[in-house]
Amino acid sequence: MLRTSALLLLLLPATYLAAQNAGSAGKAAQAASLIQPADIKADISFLASDDLAGRNAGSREDHIATDYIASEFLRLGLKPMGDNGTYFQNMELVTANLDAEHTSLTATVNGTEHRYTLNQDFQWARQSLRPARVCGPIVFAGYGISAPEFSYDDLGDANVKGKVVLVFMREPQANDSASKFMGTLDTYHAFYWHKIEALRKRGAAGVLVVQDRVPRDVKPIPPTSPRPTGGPSYALAGEMWDIPVFLIKRDVADQLLAPSGKTSESLQAEIDRTLQPHPFEVPQSSACLAKSFTGTETHKGRNVIALLEGSDPKLKEQTVILTAHHDHMGTANGHIYYGADDDASGIAGILGVARALVKGNIHPKRSILFIAYEGEERIFLGSYFYVTHPVVPLSQTVATLNLDMIGRDEDDANWPTPTDRNVNMVNVLGTRYNPALRKIIDRENKAEGLKLDYKMDRVDPDSLWSRSDHFWFATLHIPQVEFQTGLHPDYHTDNDTWQRINYPKTTKIVRLVFRSVVDLANSGETIAFVPTGAPLVKEAN
Ligand SMILES: [Zn+2]
Repeated sequence: MLRTSALLLLLLPATYLAAQNAGSAGKAAQAASLIQPADIKADISFLASDDLAGRNAGSREDHIATDYIASEFLRLGLKPMGDNGTYFQNMELVTANLDAEHTSLTATVNGTEHRYTLNQDFQWARQSLRPARVCGPIVFAGYGISAPEFSYDDLGDANVKGKVVLVFMREPQANDSASKFMGTLDTYHAFYWHKIEALRKRGAAGVLVVQDRVPRDVKPIPPTSPRPTGGPSYALAGEMWDIPVFLIKRDVADQLLAPSGKTSESLQAEIDRTLQPHPFEVPQSSACLAKSFTGTETHKGRNVIALLEGSDPKLKEQTVILTAHHDHMGTANGHIYYGADDDASGIAGILGVARALVKGNIHPKRSILFIAYEGEERIFLGSYFYVTHPVVPLSQTVATLNLDMIGRDEDDANWPTPTDRNVNMVNVLGTRYNPALRKIIDRENKAEGLKLDYKMDRVDPDSLWSRSDHFWFATLHIPQVEFQTGLHPDYHTDNDTWQRINYPKTTKIVRLVFRSVVDLANSGETIAFVPTGAPLVKEAN
């Protein structure tokens, strides 16, 4: 037995450390209470005011919103991380209307010419708005997926340079619960905007994406007011999706594949059965893709970026990123699309966390980067710009936490839970890829008592996980998570107003995010990205 005095000596450092930890935890708890509903309401009601007219990407009103965010960062003394010592990371946005008359898909198969009809045989997919005409032989490349973590490679050493690449939608065994591609949950490989980039980087001339065999079983959510229609397309100037891309019907694909003696059905069935893809060039089959536009304009878009530098001389090189998007849908057909939930609530969230850190005198060891993204509604333009122009090294990015719609109570026909049971619920998406991050969030939620819902780790009929700015980080194998309170009938209508926000819940969510960010930034723990997806956690209820 140790002598009491020796025991005391041994215990002292532990007691001291425990007291210190309790002290810093207590300080964080105090700082969390600085996050108040009145501040969140003030931010959301300003950003979702009539005068900000729905903050359409690149509009004057959206610039006012970004001025406001930058002012708040300045008031807090955060370090500007944008261009030339400002908080703004500038980018060029392009808007244009598709010129249907000069947008075409033609093919020559076994010497016979085919001309396909837009919106009947083929469809426009999201891509750059630079006019282009490309022609090339058809290369069949399975699902267009290169996934070493699943020992699966559709591309292999296939030469796609200058070729028109034909790929299937989604991923192998997509409807098979035993699929190694995370069962019926779509991995990031499944989304064609990721495939387009992978093929563009390999030099493909154009991409034809074959429509899915079985349309997804998604129950529509009837809107309380019309959703926006019409208006131009948006894109980033530059490389993103800068090749012609069309979605084609399966009978068009069969026509293009005919000289190979195979059909889309037989090829897809074979890959799904064997998981052994064999890319090949289809003999005697080539296609020309042309896209053309009218009314092309350029606009200035911008991310707003600020840094709270870490306090540890070494760990400060590592960064936790907290994000939300500042743009929404603007106005259309006499409606203002206010975007209070989507995503003024997220912006209020990142501002709330920044204020609590600074005013609560919290100095985490790792650095924290705040980003308000441009153009999320136009398919993640600002976040794509960021990951291709990062201001802190991506290799030193610990994780990104994204807040997109954290202000309402889920009312989604795809989920059986009635809305009145969602008043304390927030969905947490993406942690199958980074279970260590989930542990932190679960741990920190003990103090907030929110109902954390990980249901979209099992099934995600709306593909919500793929539908916001954290998506790109997953494709780069950087840990990511999204907080989101779910869809509702006011989603993308003029009823997404600041008056309809659940402020007490939003406040709790922002406090949870604050606690999680502090926890993550204070630890030296590495958050592993698990590309194959961690096994499902058994839920308590
Ligand atoms: Zn959004």
